[in-house]
Amino acid sequence: MNNYKNQTKLSRFIKNNATLLVIIFCVFAILSLVLVSYLVTPDVPVDNPNGGIPDPDDNTNVNNGNQNNEPTTKPEPQPIVETFSYPLEFVSVGMEHCDGQEVIFVYNSTLNTWRNHKGVDLMAEEGATVSAMKSGEIVEIGNSYELGWYVVVDHGDGVVATYASLAEPQVVKGQKVVKGEKIGQASTSASYEFSQGAHLHLEIEQNGESVDPIKFIENQSK
Ligand SMILES: [Zn+2]
Repeated sequence: MNNYKNQTKLSRFIKNNATLLVIIFCVFAILSLVLVSYLVTPDVPVDNPNGGIPDPDDNTNVNNGNQNNEPTTKPEPQPIVETFSYPLEFVSVGMEHCDGQEVIFVYNSTLNTWRNHKGVDLMAEEGATVSAMKSGEIVEIGNSYELGWYVVVDHGDGVVATYASLAEPQVVKGQKVVKGEKIGQASTSASYEFSQGAHLHLEIEQNGESVDPIKFIENQSK
């Protein structure tokens, strides 16, 4: 009898609240769907906490265009090797250099005799510009009857050059010069070589030894 009464109450409750029950069922269904869709969403990769968005402050994966991932190294700057150049535009060689072996003496037309010649004579127009063959420092300026006005330049590395048969120099002792800088003008000031006309008498010593300026310059210019 009691069971019958309870069943009657239940069926009456369901009839009276059918709409409410349907709404509650629908709410549970929707919540279930939301929960399931959240659970099946793929996990964010652990090694990329930004979910695939590049972090502008993260440089670990930036290779600066280096496709081989090789370390970027700057090439070592190569030292600039300064070579020797001729000190003027000469048209011919006058008296050659005597090396004491192949050429012992050359004929000196001014003195009308065969004698030693430590330099080489580069013929030029009177007043032609004589320039430094390489950078260096002027260590001596002088005048002698034999060589006329001369300028001695220490070019470094044991190379000292004497530029002679010049017009009176406009440079000073101790002056630093760069390659190609004017240090004098060709003239006939060397009395022992006067009859050749205007020229540059050029001597070069390397580690104290007189060398043929022509061979030296050409070897040093390669
Ligand atoms: Zn000479």
